[in-house]
Amino acid sequence: MTEALLIVDLQYDFMPGGALGVSGGDEIIPIINKLVGKFDYTIVSQDYHPEGHVSFANTHNKEVGEIIDINGTKQELWPIHCVEQTHGAALVKELKKDHIDRYFHKGTDLNIDSYSAFFDNDKEHETGLDDFLRDKGVSTLYIVGLTTEFCVKFSALDALELGYEVIVIKDGCRPIHDDKKALEEMKKAGAKIVTLKHLLSRQLSSD
Ligand SMILES: [Zn+2]
Repeated sequence: MTEALLIVDLQYDFMPGGALGVSGGDEIIPIINKLVGKFDYTIVSQDYHPEGHVSFANTHNKEVGEIIDINGTKQELWPIHCVEQTHGAALVKELKKDHIDRYFHKGTDLNIDSYSAFFDNDKEHETGLDDFLRDKGVSTLYIVGLTTEFCVKFSALDALELGYEVIVIKDGCRPIHDDKKALEEMKKAGAKIVTLKHLLSRQLSSD
């Protein structure tokens, strides 16, 4: 069984004080660092937008939090965040990077957002993550990162739909607001929800 760890969007703009800062977003870094290198493959996704991106409220002269319709896809509007080649889009320096096999950028198309590390929100374009995992024979995907209700959840749901076994390490994730509904939704779709402690004890006992 080939297993991979997917680290979602551990970038400065999602850290406390960042453009789209997540409370406690920095607290998951040491947890994730304990996992880096423990799987056959470690993959990192990065929210990576061009200037004037469709997901920015500013682009439409609207308020953050408003929901607009873009060619039939609902788009929630966010503050300007993770603009390509800015500090906010960079991975946090504390993340251990010595075992990372591949980086995938998402949300790089000006006109469509991407919460999932697999597809744009209209599911028309792939990031290449699925091809990579299939090529490596990965069957099980462990997911950590930011944020539980958006990029973690949509990545987990897509992975399940694509046929992967999905395990979400909940204390390795943080929500923007509340993770309860998202965790239930992922569980209902077939994901296993575990804690780091549970995972480490299982790994030790199976060694
Ligand atoms: Zn974004």
